[in-house]
Amino acid sequence: MHWRDFFIPTSKETPKDATAPSHVLMLRAGLIRQAAAGVYSYLPLGYRVLRKVEAIVRAEMNRAGAIELHLPVLMPISWWEQTGRTEAMGDTLLRLGGPQGDWRSQTVLGPTHEEAITEIARAYLNSYKQLPITLYQIQVKFRGEARPKSGVLRTREFLMKDAYSFHDSIESLDRTYQKMYDAYCRIFSRCGLPYMAVEAESGPIGGDASHEFMVLTDAGEDNVALTDDGSYAANVERATAAAPTPAAEVALEAVQEVHTPNAGRIEDVCPVLGVSPQMLIKTLIYSAAVRDNKDGPERLVRVVALVRGDHDINEHKLTKVTGLMLELAEPRTIEELTGAAVGFAGPQGLVQRLGAADRLIVDREVAVLRNAASGANKTDYHVTGVNPGRDFPLEGERVVVADIRNVVEGDPSPSDGAPVHLRTAIEVGHVFKLGTKYSTAMSATYLDQEGRAQPLIMGCYGIGLNRITAAVIESHHDDNGIIWPMSIAPFHVLVMALDPRDEQVMQTAKELHDRLEASGLDVLFDDRDERAGFKFKDADLIGVPLRIVVGKKSLANGTVEVSHRRDQKKEPFEPAAAAKHVVKRVSAELAELENV
Ligand code: ATP
Ligand code: MG
Repeated sequence: MHWRDFFIPTSKETPKDATAPSHVLMLRAGLIRQAAAGVYSYLPLGYRVLRKVEAIVRAEMNRAGAIELHLPVLMPISWWEQTGRTEAMGDTLLRLGGPQGDWRSQTVLGPTHEEAITEIARAYLNSYKQLPITLYQIQVKFRGEARPKSGVLRTREFLMKDAYSFHDSIESLDRTYQKMYDAYCRIFSRCGLPYMAVEAESGPIGGDASHEFMVLTDAGEDNVALTDDGSYAANVERATAAAPTPAAEVALEAVQEVHTPNAGRIEDVCPVLGVSPQMLIKTLIYSAAVRDNKDGPERLVRVVALVRGDHDINEHKLTKVTGLMLELAEPRTIEELTGAAVGFAGPQGLVQRLGAADRLIVDREVAVLRNAASGANKTDYHVTGVNPGRDFPLEGERVVVADIRNVVEGDPSPSDGAPVHLRTAIEVGHVFKLGTKYSTAMSATYLDQEGRAQPLIMGCYGIGLNRITAAVIESHHDDNGIIWPMSIAPFHVLVMALDPRDEQVMQTAKELHDRLEASGLDVLFDDRDERAGFKFKDADLIGVPLRIVVGKKSLANGTVEVSHRRDQKKEPFEPAAAAKHVVKRVSAELAELENV
């Protein structure tokens, strides 16, 4: 490809509002252009990369035995109503709108395709003899992301490879899950991504039912907890610490009120009480609107959650423990329950005030506190000498002691007690055991060997192609630009004519370009009539891994210079030898990435 005939709108300007390196570099290298918040065009260079990522993903899915199909973006909203996801998805699910009765009002843009694939399974997968089967597609998704961020890392329109598997037993699901897991490892390795698999929020089956593939980087929006030796790795949404040691045997103090005017926040009240945040019980009040039956009246369930003052509540865990879609209660609800202003709630005596349906959830580290402090349920007052079990219950129908907090830096890991560290990461892929959630909701059944109808057991497996592209740049760049791994580089080699007005230089460069292209390499030939410095800057920015520089000076000695974007070490070769060397190097690097 001749640069002059191609379209690479590079730019020297660092775009404002872009902070993540991948965002800055994708804009500057002319890979993408923003169309609207969270919506991007892929320019030719960016599209070449995306297509290469896609080819790797497709090859590995096929190798794993998955079968490609193509589902629609436009879907009837009735499918989503059947699974209850019109509500669960909220604003993420984009609707076409339009007046009631018009087809548009009944149509959504697919954010994911469990419903669409289950509808196909319902129609065609009727017998155990057809199972297991894995179907996949590479398709655009639309999501009403509230905060699109960091270029193509989080957008409202993006490409996903989503695969769905169908089974007649958990063992069969486990086998396919493992196959997909292994295929994902190969995909990320081939893309040159330093990834790790972490335990993620598990599905309805429980256990290790879900893994996310993460790339550690500051630009990530996920948090993971890991030990140094990798013995434990989990998304913070799910990560847990080793169980606390039992409470020490100490004399129990009596509950005592302390006047703490205007000190409703932990950092204000601890100095007044002379206690550390570890000894303070934080009392959070949540509520959920529930209906006993579909058409019954709505009522408010209140949930009191207790965590230590130095800990943060983990709402994923709280949701799991309670099975309720909770929100922090309105100040009015809190004041009604505690009889005090917000900031002065405490667990003592609170259960007596709770209604029959309300719940108390105690973090297991609160349960082992002795002589702790908390709000007094009286405005401007706290209490000391609070003891779990004595001043509030740890047992009973409406009481649960569980892990409901976020892990913190240095927590002992549940695997071997080694301290965990918190790091930010990008989620590039997710494998998930779904169980029968969708098949039950949509009545997708098969006949088992005894001729009985059973709901199909399902797994699903998603990978974000755009996100992979950006994540690769996050982990492969320097101050001057991108450093593409060979496998997804837009071009394998850049041939650069340093003195484009010199006939011999141009001819040698052109011959090298033609010859390398004929050997099957993707070659970019910088034939532009520009200054050398300018061309070198562009070359560094777009990050083509191998470079052959043809200049008047070295050509006088019969050589051209070969270098690698990674280390920029220059090596002189005769032109024919340079071509051979480059062909060999490309296949060696590709093989290295594939050899996993
Ligand atoms: P996140 O937690 O980051 O919002 P998710 O858990 O909703 O992602 P999944 O539904 O598991 O994502 O989608 C599978 C894959 O699709 C993700 O692992 C990610 O690579 C990609 N992906 C999801 N949302 C986006 C987005 N808004 N922009 C780009 N890629 C995305
Ligand atoms: Mg996910």
